[in-house]
Amino acid sequence: MKKPHLFAPGPTAVPPEVLLTMAHPIPHHRAPEFEALLAEVREGLKSLFQTTEEVLLFAASGTGGMEASVVNTLSPGEEVLVIQAGKFGERWGEICQAYGISFTPIDIPYGKAVDPTLVATALEKDPKIAAVFCTHSETSTGVLHDIHAIAQVVRKTSTFLVVDAITSLGIVDLPMDAWGLDVVVGGSQKALMLPPGLTMVGVSQKAWAAVERSRLPKYYFDFAAERKNLLENQSHFTPAISLVVGLRETLGMIRNEGLQHVFRRHERLAVAMRAGVTALGLELFAERPSPAVTTVKVPQGVDGGAIVKTLRAKHGVTIAGGQGSMKGKIFRLATMGYADSSDVVVALSALELTLSELGYPIKVGEGIRAAQEVLHRVPED
Ligand SMILES: *Cc1c(COP(=O)(O)O)cnc(C)c1O
Repeated sequence: MKKPHLFAPGPTAVPPEVLLTMAHPIPHHRAPEFEALLAEVREGLKSLFQTTEEVLLFAASGTGGMEASVVNTLSPGEEVLVIQAGKFGERWGEICQAYGISFTPIDIPYGKAVDPTLVATALEKDPKIAAVFCTHSETSTGVLHDIHAIAQVVRKTSTFLVVDAITSLGIVDLPMDAWGLDVVVGGSQKALMLPPGLTMVGVSQKAWAAVERSRLPKYYFDFAAERKNLLENQSHFTPAISLVVGLRETLGMIRNEGLQHVFRRHERLAVAMRAGVTALGLELFAERPSPAVTTVKVPQGVDGGAIVKTLRAKHGVTIAGGQGSMKGKIFRLATMGYADSSDVVVALSALELTLSELGYPIKVGEGIRAAQEVLHRVPED
């Protein structure tokens, strides 16, 4: 018998009470009960995004929220800046390309964080740039980019800032209003402890002005129509009812724990995980590591794919390897959403056994010991 553990950077584990809530008979989305539920979800999302603006909901994976942000804010002929420091940053570029939006890329080597002065220089050079597209927590490299510093540059200009916050919302502080972020995109299957299928988009006043001007084609992903409905606790089309029911539950969990506490919990787990893998003699990949996911260089002489496969097949632990050009070079251990200190210990324990089985010389227990020391030193508050 093997007990399954999901430590992939999405989808992540769903708490049992949330699964049970979603298993109840499904309410009708035009019934008063669902309207009341949606009213509660609207408030919960505003707290999570730290905004007074409405947060729009769409039935789609996170990429749907990204595409929606492009088609609702831009017009043919406009130019944008795209920070590409990994697969997800590149996705912004691919979406722009699909809609014929020409963009200037800021290409950052994988594993490195973007220097915010590059954004300042690019905007000074070309003040026509309508928007900057960036990624807060780049899940493919494990880097947390300095969105606060980028926002300080962008908010002084007429350009608006679009942030992929899919693995940072509910993990690390990202106060949308206080930092002046214009479009913030979230997804259900990462820190929000839900199955995939729901994306959330926060839109600032500055971005709403762009939405009014926008002439790119759109139909399903229509921000203005969605907001109009949401203000009456309705959705334009049939919402992902079960996921919205689950979202009420997970937003309640986050509210009860306290958002700042949720951030500290994630930080503590990530610090412990990093201590564990480095104590095994492994090297971290990210220069400015995200608390959502710990990226580790595959040690020389070991097959990266075999680490992922052995963990799953022999130890019931699902993690992720590298994507694209990072395949076989790194592996990724997530500590996001429904995660606590015992998960760090389980992941490290399985990793130690796996590395030993693959013939990599480690002292079994060293990683766990280093992680435990962090968990002991940094008590849960
Ligand atoms: C998971 C993820 C996405 C969205 O991916 P989907 O598969 O469409 O949900 C986008 N950006 C980042 C940083 C992610 O981690």
